[in-house]
Amino acid sequence: MVIVMQANASEQQISQVAQFINQHGAKAHISQGEERTIIGVIGFRHDVRLEHLQTLAGVEKVIPITKPYKLVSREFKKDNTQISLNGVTIGGKFPVIIAGPCSVENESQILETARIVKENGGHLLRGGAYKPRSSPYTFQGLGEEGLKYLKRAKEETGLYIVTEVLEAMYVPLVAEFADILQIGARNMQNYELLKAVGRIKKPVLLKRGMSAQLTEFLMSAEYIMSEGNNQIILCERGIRTFVEYSRNTLDLNVVPAIKNISHLPIFVDPSHGTGRRDLIEPLSLAALAVGADGLMIEVHPRPEQAWSDADQTLDPVAFKRLMKKIKHFTAWQQKFVEQEPDLN
Ligand code: PEP
Ligand code: MN
Repeated sequence: MVIVMQANASEQQISQVAQFINQHGAKAHISQGEERTIIGVIGFRHDVRLEHLQTLAGVEKVIPITKPYKLVSREFKKDNTQISLNGVTIGGKFPVIIAGPCSVENESQILETARIVKENGGHLLRGGAYKPRSSPYTFQGLGEEGLKYLKRAKEETGLYIVTEVLEAMYVPLVAEFADILQIGARNMQNYELLKAVGRIKKPVLLKRGMSAQLTEFLMSAEYIMSEGNNQIILCERGIRTFVEYSRNTLDLNVVPAIKNISHLPIFVDPSHGTGRRDLIEPLSLAALAVGADGLMIEVHPRPEQAWSDADQTLDPVAFKRLMKKIKHFTAWQQKFVEQEPDLN
């Protein structure tokens, strides 16, 4: 359940409510908004009645939340979550583009890609230093060396870094270099890792597991948020279906569905979602059309030489073209689509 405090509730009243919750074996998650404080209650015993809470000083109302996820739900927080980084607002009015190679291969490759991303208006640089590969015999990433190259790319271009963390024990190290920590599809239900990134103060980009249902996806975000980190970006990256013409099936249904039930921003990754370079541009625009807050795109100066995911990686010209299309599309969308039509 969620407790909405009165606008003028005092610090003391808030801490008394939190104390009451803790005394009854539950956890209080305090979220201090612009106007009022909201307290999420996690794990209440059944003998604690709603009426008890309603009588505590400073409480305006108590909202029971029936869904298994609470903190990530719209019932808990009505307004969209926005994450501001280096002048870029994620979950705001404009789509945010994260672009870069699948893997960091060497210093010059990541620097070259970073310049391409920057020149064409990309907002954040991606690149895997730790790679979760399907085969143990393929390139596994440069590890810490890769993180250092990402740092150099940031120093040169000013682009902030998104990179994946594979294990809980590496969270402190990756957090030293990354501005957004990525949790990959294969780790969406690695609960120890989710809890570990829940305890840091940096945004987390959580990719949907390749066979995860919507509720499971949101429950994974709930793990992160229940540890105190509310800077979460969800990312749809395609799910496994019977199709063979594309690597995955990009489930764009999930974008407006998440907008309805959660306040968290949702990104789309058409590179992993399709596995096909020729499908990235149309699916990027489709993702924006259904309301995605941003895109994650794989880009490489010479995709044919990429050490991983070459087939789903854009070259500089295709990326430039996509960025121009996004610009036009966003302007058109804001003019025509986002306005409520006159129904009379
Ligand atoms: C990636 O973004 O490089 C990646 C491995 O993605 P996913 O976890 O979605 O497969
Ligand atoms: Mn990849």
